[in-house]
Amino acid sequence: MNQAFLDRVRIVLVNTTHPGNIGGAARAMKNMGMSQLYLVDPYRYPHDEATRRASNADDVLEGAVVVKTVQEAIEGCDLVIGTSARERRIPWPLKDPRACVAEAASPRHQRNIAILFGREHSGLTNEELAMCQLHLHIPTNPDYSSLNLAAAVQVVAYECRMLAQQETVEVSEASGWDMPLADAGDVERMHEHMAKTLAEINFIDPANPKQALTRLRRMFSRIRLDEMEVSILRGMLNRIDKAVARNKAD
Ligand code: SAH
Repeated sequence: MNQAFLDRVRIVLVNTTHPGNIGGAARAMKNMGMSQLYLVDPYRYPHDEATRRASNADDVLEGAVVVKTVQEAIEGCDLVIGTSARERRIPWPLKDPRACVAEAASPRHQRNIAILFGREHSGLTNEELAMCQLHLHIPTNPDYSSLNLAAAVQVVAYECRMLAQQETVEVSEASGWDMPLADAGDVERMHEHMAKTLAEINFIDPANPKQALTRLRRMFSRIRLDEMEVSILRGMLNRIDKAVARNKAD
């Protein structure tokens, strides 16, 4: 049993409305041997209904980390997976739970792996999905594709356990790459910096930047930046910022 892999998977519930779903997710996780639960700005939490639905998984619930933003929830991760019940406008690599989990277990990923789950009524926003490298869709009846939130967590947690049970998985082996993959928090800060600089040089219109920035995000998520690459890009942006400031002063 590869418990180390299960320990690295972070289930992130974004803006959950019903406390019962938080409890149900905690239970689903504990059944599968997982414990890293992050709650991004939940509507009602802590709540009796969450504790009741967690049943004997109250330790997972009590250990849940409550944060204000998705950005905080993905710090310390080198892969961010967004779950989605439907197709989005700009297509992202879309995989089923088994394929996503297999990719997550690749030796390239040495840090935590975040899997984001959306709001009961509206799912994840396009901005949140654009922070992810992979989109996970649970194959369903196309006419009725939306699972209950805790049920979706259960399906994904089950796939994590099935993979962890394979004796052959070597999750801690070095990947053969010379640099570790970048922390998702640092990648987010780089995107924010890039958006500011690109607006400053009038490459994008801050009032209407959406498509170009989303496509840049998709490109970088396809590449999977390492630590050094993020630092080179930040250095480039800093130089551009300085040149712009000098130009303005002249
Ligand atoms: N009406 C929303 C559905 C939200 S369901 C929408 O159209 O997006 C709540 C959450 O459960 C989703 O954000 C997702 O995290 C998860 N979920 C539900 N069904 C899913 C599916 N078929 N595949 C992947 N995730 C799913």
